[in-house]
Formats: sequence, C-alpha cells, structure tokens
Amino acid sequence: MVTMRIRSLEFERAVPYREAKGIHPPAVTTPRKKETRQAVTENQIVGRLFTEHKKKGGDIMAGTWNAKAYAAASPTSSMASTTISRRYPTEHDVQIEILFCGICHSDLHTVRDEWKSVFPTIYPCVPGHEIVGRVTAVGSAVTAFKAGDLAAVGCMVDSDRTCSECQAGLEQFCPNMTLTYNSPDKHIGGITRGGYSEGIVVDQRFVLRVPTALDPAGAAPLLCAGITTYSPLRHWGVTKGKKVGIVGLGGLGHMAVKIAHALGAHVVVFTTSPGKKEDALRLGADEVVISRHSNEMKKQTGSFDFILDAVSADHDVNAYLQLLRRDGTMTLVGAPEKPLAVPAFSLIFGRRSLSGSPIGGIPETQEMLDFCGTHNITADVEVIPIQKVNEAYDRLLKSDVKYRFSIDMASLKSA
Ligand code: NAP
Ligand code: ZN
Repeated sequence: MVTMRIRSLEFERAVPYREAKGIHPPAVTTPRKKETRQAVTENQIVGRLFTEHKKKGGDIMAGTWNAKAYAAASPTSSMASTTISRRYPTEHDVQIEILFCGICHSDLHTVRDEWKSVFPTIYPCVPGHEIVGRVTAVGSAVTAFKAGDLAAVGCMVDSDRTCSECQAGLEQFCPNMTLTYNSPDKHIGGITRGGYSEGIVVDQRFVLRVPTALDPAGAAPLLCAGITTYSPLRHWGVTKGKKVGIVGLGGLGHMAVKIAHALGAHVVVFTTSPGKKEDALRLGADEVVISRHSNEMKKQTGSFDFILDAVSADHDVNAYLQLLRRDGTMTLVGAPEKPLAVPAFSLIFGRRSLSGSPIGGIPETQEMLDFCGTHNITADVEVIPIQKVNEAYDRLLKSDVKYRFSIDMASLKSA
C-alpha cells in the first residue's frame, strides 16, 4: 500500500520542535490509484480522524491531541472524567479507538497506591490494560495493521527491544519495559495512561490481533487475566494427566480454569465463596473445594502437580503448599498488598517450589489469543458504562463480579 504523510500549516510550523523530540506528524495510509472499496473507506476514516484530532484540541506543537478518559486524582479519590494527551501516531504507531477495557484488580491496587513500596502510583492515574479496539490510523511503517482492524493492547506498550529478554520475546522481563499505565512516557513526557480512555496510540510491536470470532467485550480481559494465567500454566507444563489447583475464582482465576481445562488438565478450584461452586464446574473445574472447610482441604493433601494462586488479598499460602506432591510447584500470580508468610518446612518436605509469574511476552500473548480463538474462550463479563467504575471497584473488593467487569467505552462519550 502506498503511504503518504498528512501535512498542514500547523504541522509544518511544529516540525523543528517535533523532530527535536523525535515526534513525526501523523503518517497515514492512502489507497493506490486503483482504489478498492476497503481502501477508500480507510482513507475516509483517516481523513475524518485527522479532522477530529483538530476538533478535540490538544497541543499541535507537541504533536498531541486530547482524549477523554477516567482518572483517579489521589489514592482516596473516586475516579472521574478528565482529558489526557495522546501523541499523533509516529511512523511505527497504531492508533486505536478503544471499544472495551476490562477492570483488573491491578487497576484497583494501583489507583489506591497499594503497591507503593514497589510501584508507587503517580497521579492523576488512568488505569486499564485489557484493551480491545478498532484501528483508526497507522504510521507509514506499519505493516501488520490497517484502519478498521480489531486490535488489542495489554499490560505493556514498549520495551528496549535490545536486551536478551526482548530478543527472546520475553518483554515482560525487560528492565526498560514500559507499562501501559504508570510508567514514564518516552514520547510525550509524564506517565503513560491506560485504557479507561477513548483512544490509545501504541507501537505496532505491542499491538495484538484479536481472533474476529471472539466477542470483543469478553476478549478484552484476555489481555491481562488471559495471558497472566496462560503463561504459567504453559511454562509449568500443565497438560492432560496433570492435577492443577486454581486458588481464587476471580478475573484471573476463572480464566485459569477455562485455559487449564482446555489444556486437558484435571482442574480443582479453591474458593472462599460457596456460591461460586456451580459456576466453577460450568467453567471447566472437575472438583471444587471450599477453602475455609479444613476437612475438604485435608483430602487434597500431597496430590497436586501445580497450583496457581490468583488471590488479591492476604491469605494462608501454607494451606496450599501442603497440597503439592513431591516436586510440585505453586505459582503466585495474585499480588496482595502485604507480604505472605511462607514456612520453610512446607517447601523442604516434598522439595516443593514456590514461584511467581508476571503477565507474558508479546509472542506468547498472541499465542494465547489464538489459542482462545481456537477453543472459543473469552472471559465471563459484566459490561458496564464507565460511569459505574467506582461502584465496580467496591464490588470487586467484595468478590461480587462474575467474573470480570468490561467497560463499554462508548459510554465515555457522555461522560
Ligand atoms: P479479582 O477478580 O478480585 O479476584 C480475586 C479473587 O481472590 C476473588 O474473586 C476471591 O476468589 C479471592 N479472594 C479475594 N479476597 C480474598 C481473601 N481475603 N482470602 C482469600 N481469597 C480471596 O482479582 P483479579 O483481577 O483476578 O486479580 C487477582 C490478583 O492478581 C490481584 O492481586 C492482581 O493485582 C494480580 N495480578 C497479577 C498479575 C501478574 O502479572 N502476576 C496480573 C494481573 C493481576 P473466591 O471468591 O473464589 O475466594
Ligand atoms: Zn491486569
């Protein structure tokens, strides 16, 4: 496809500033002379988008446009409507109109600054890293996406791309990785802002393809809850013939049940909520244990190959270490605010391992999306308008969601 850069008086005036900052004017795709119907549509979309950028305002000199968003101003304030800056797409960028964004418990931890000892939150904070949307513009060097495509963004928007982790496709371990929110923004300064917003601009290497058969509202949570559970399940060899425990039937937990079931494992759910038993079985569990019933827990002693702990709050990990067989592994994906107590003897006896796992790299995230496409796996979602986000956080803390909130971003228009 032939590419061309949009030029305007304002852009020409801003060239020295933007070049000094490495910011380029929006590069857009235009159709060849023999226009196809699709190409004409793309061109119209991009043209309209450019006009919309200008209408929305922003800082032309800095190469930014204004996007509507929801932000928290402090750890104790409710989230409220605001306006944030997004960069114009540079040559490798994809601009996405956000359709749905899942609510991850990490959003809540971050908004309330519960991880301040490791990741202090910088305010105002716009969370959201389970993003599915429609591509509205692409830079001149973008080959993998075009306007109109369904696309997704997860927890990372960049990395240094040169370290051994990046070379291995394990960007989640890159020491210079840029998170989707609350990381330094290399392009326009300040910090990155997440998916509780109308649009986002991301380098094509960090944009994922969503299988078109999947419902976009239910697919959004795959971008964090999906990959965060898929990655350790695959890494620790969960497959047919393995007995796997999933602790906590929340957003991550219910994805883990679906994925472990699809991988062929024998799946046991541990929940504190007796009311979730039927759901757990429907989602793919073979057994359900109410973790507060010690007799039920005892029956499982020494029987698990692998346990995935997706609990967001303080709890007794020792109760689960006892359930591992010799050489079994328990992996923490849940990240409670306070440190967990681990008795040495629970690991020594049985040569057991306790580990942790963060999200997943970009190639594995695409693999997970394709796997979910093949197995028709999406999250069970309650779709809400953005105006209900504060209520949703309160309900998340009470484990009162089946099993992920997905924000319909069209609601931002009236925010
Ligand atoms: P969530 O939807 O709130 O689910 C957490 C589940 O934990 C609840 O549904 C509940 O399940 C259980 N739980 C809650 N409070 C509990 C308590 N006091 N004692 C025992 N169990 C309790 O949260 P999520 O979005 O799935 O996230 C879970 C955790 O993973 C969070 O800490 C989040 O920050 C973290 N996370 C980590 C990564 C990573 O890369 N490692 C990525 C995303 C999220 P039951 O009702 O079944 O007991
Ligand atoms: Zn998350």
